[in-house]
Amino acid sequence: MPEPLDHRALYRLPWSLPDNPIAWLEPTEACNIYCEGCYRAHVTQGHKSMREIENDLRTFARYRNFDGVSIAGGDPLTHPEIVGIVGLVRTMGWKPIVNTNGFALTEDMLRRLKDAGVAGFTFHIDSKQTRPGWKKKTELELNDLRLELATRLERAGGISCAFNATVYEDTLPYVPDLVAWARKHIDKVHVMVFIAYRQASGEGGDSMEFWVGDKRIDMDSLVYSRPTGGRRVDISSRDVVDEIRKRFPDFAPCAYLNGTEKADSLKWLLTTYAGTRDEVVGYVGPKFMELMQTYHHLRHGRFLAYAPPSMLRHGRTLAATMWPIDGGVRRALGRYLAGVARRPLRPLPRLHVQSVMIIQPVDILADGRMNMCDACPDVTVHEGELVWSCRLEELKKYGGFARGVAREESVVTADR
Ligand code: SF4
Repeated sequence: MPEPLDHRALYRLPWSLPDNPIAWLEPTEACNIYCEGCYRAHVTQGHKSMREIENDLRTFARYRNFDGVSIAGGDPLTHPEIVGIVGLVRTMGWKPIVNTNGFALTEDMLRRLKDAGVAGFTFHIDSKQTRPGWKKKTELELNDLRLELATRLERAGGISCAFNATVYEDTLPYVPDLVAWARKHIDKVHVMVFIAYRQASGEGGDSMEFWVGDKRIDMDSLVYSRPTGGRRVDISSRDVVDEIRKRFPDFAPCAYLNGTEKADSLKWLLTTYAGTRDEVVGYVGPKFMELMQTYHHLRHGRFLAYAPPSMLRHGRTLAATMWPIDGGVRRALGRYLAGVARRPLRPLPRLHVQSVMIIQPVDILADGRMNMCDACPDVTVHEGELVWSCRLEELKKYGGFARGVAREESVVTADR
């Protein structure tokens, strides 16, 4: 029986508001498909100019030390100057990571993006998208699409490959299947990201009202406050881990980001393991992650975003250098060597490294507090300031972030 997750036994990632591996650039609001869990209003236009994009990048640079730029949206491939944007990010000294649904990624576009210096892709693929040719497909059937994209990146060479999926109540049981699929393709797939579905109804439900400054706002007018049909909006990282452990009981996260309101909420929960195409030999522990983060920061002055494939396929070297300081790496190396000893005449199998990141976005607590990701990596720029990208619609529509107030409490406040 695996131990319940205790955040104090994990490594708290050292990221902060001004020093963080990534920044979240939104060059466009436009998207070419529809995703149920999207927190951006669905529009087909809304590209920023190159000048605006460069200004956003300069704002990031003014406030934050970072390694990679997640180029998101909307879908960034809809922007007519996406190749120039990737080139600009690279020229300014960061790794461009394209966060896309992949629908517009033709072979020609991939080649041009690679020439412009793209470092990685994160493909958002899940079963609650209206994706032409893939409508009503299950998470398992969508693995064919995932594999097609991963294989194309592998052929292009030198590009990091990640997938993310929103996790809904009814798709939660598929998460172990997606982890199993990713393990099978550990040589092509570097990161799997699972993002718990949210809507702003929160734990308080109807008993909650929302205010910006001294004005009560209609939260239901925002895209992330839609009727859920009774679907759960409180799936936690622990729920996702519990589900994965039904299939992989040894699944062992090593690092996390806490919540701004709850120290023990696992808002970003990282699990990293090493394996061959046939088996996962073990999970790295908190010490490994601490050393990796610290070493990269000491050497490059930044925390690491998206390790390049050339590093992730050298699990043997990582294990051989890190085993003295990390028990998880020692166990993984021992298991790998035992496997080699059982098949002495075969060539040494390559040891790859793969990660699973589970993200638990905003939790609206029963008393109205918003439990955000402490040291949010995905801050974006709005009117020259860094803001949570997951709540941008509040700023656009109401000029500020909403705060929740339990209804009874708000009446008391109004009476005073
Ligand atoms: S707080 Fe930041 S990291 Fe967390 S869900 Fe929102 S944008 Fe993403």
